Amino acid sequence: MNEKYDIETLAVRAGTKRSAFGEHAEALFLTSSFVFDSAEEIAEAFAATGGAYTYSRFSNPTVSMFQDRLAALEGAEACLATSSGMSAIFACCLGTLNAGDHIVSSQSIFGATVQLFNTILGRFGVTTSYVSLTDPQAWADAIQPNTKLFYLETPSNPLTEIADIRAIKQVAEKAGVLLVVDNCFCSPALQRPFELGADVVIHSATKYLDGQGRVLGGAVLGSKEFIQDKIAPILRTSGPSLSPFNAWVILKGMETLAIRMEKQSANAAELADWLVQQPQIERVYYPGLTSHPQHALAMQQQKSGGAILSFEMKGNSEEQRKAKAWEVVNGCKLISITANLGDTRSTITHPATTTHARITQEARTLAGVGDGLLRIAVGLESVADLKRDLVRGLTEKD
Ligand SMILES: *Cc1c(COP(=O)(O)O)cnc(C)c1O
Repeated sequence: MNEKYDIETLAVRAGTKRSAFGEHAEALFLTSSFVFDSAEEIAEAFAATGGAYTYSRFSNPTVSMFQDRLAALEGAEACLATSSGMSAIFACCLGTLNAGDHIVSSQSIFGATVQLFNTILGRFGVTTSYVSLTDPQAWADAIQPNTKLFYLETPSNPLTEIADIRAIKQVAEKAGVLLVVDNCFCSPALQRPFELGADVVIHSATKYLDGQGRVLGGAVLGSKEFIQDKIAPILRTSGPSLSPFNAWVILKGMETLAIRMEKQSANAAELADWLVQQPQIERVYYPGLTSHPQHALAMQQQKSGGAILSFEMKGNSEEQRKAKAWEVVNGCKLISITANLGDTRSTITHPATTTHARITQEARTLAGVGDGLLRIAVGLESVADLKRDLVRGLTEKD
């Protein structure tokens, strides 16, 4: 399977490998090791670089199917699966950084990624500078002689800011720095960062690739050389491999990726249009709205606005805005109150007291996360039902 097929086709067919039984659906190879007929055969398998299956920490046919399908969807030469999104990010850092190196990162990235950069990599002498996602000049200004990695997510969480990937790539290329893009929010169904200049793409398969909130998984994608030389040795020896069972579940999820992303994005766009009209709401953040500051760029880079939006409640003080936001959350009987996203079930989060609770007030303000902000990851329910669920808290008596 290669690039001559469209993404909808690749999502259901790419990477499929059949055993001698000729099964139609992808088989689940739930085995930790593989057996051989002779000393000669096993010696040959261990001597071979890639290809032969010997032990599932190194490779497994079900995991290979997941890797090959995701590589096809992203248009990547190679992919290696990991046990979670965080282990994908960690493997990427371990494979590319040495003590004394420096990362330039967007300031609006996943909370655990900030913790990883600061607390864990910091202990090994890796430093990180945080800059604005939307200001390529800030990335250029943050470069040091020891900078090795640029790291970003676009759209950002929860304000849905958009990075100009091409512009940041230009800065990275000039400085000989690797550009890593976490493509979790859009998935390859809506955005293909390699086409915009990314050197490495990271996934939390836990989100839209599974899409049904069932299992954890992750992946690192890049050139064949990068994956073989930088990532494979880390995964082989440190061991955060993807379980074949999880790979099989995610493969099933990926079959509906394109259609889910299309429908969930359409639902989010409809909900965003409606939220804009609600008098209790100060502002709606959604890349698909023409009022979004980077709407044009978003529409260039992405197939649609995506399935995640956020909005700020009106109020005279942070306390009042927080009370209003909590009323909306507590009014929800259908939308799940959870910090997760990427599910077919819509979820609502109050970032200031959940996903962004552990960072300082200063960092929260910098990230634009006020007490009146709410994030919704829109699922596959009827939009009319979602509106009815939100109206309850929006119209609560004062
Ligand atoms: C969830 C998430 C991660 C981490 O993924 P896990 O699978 O939970 O380890 C990384 N980046 C983004 C943008 C995420 O939303």
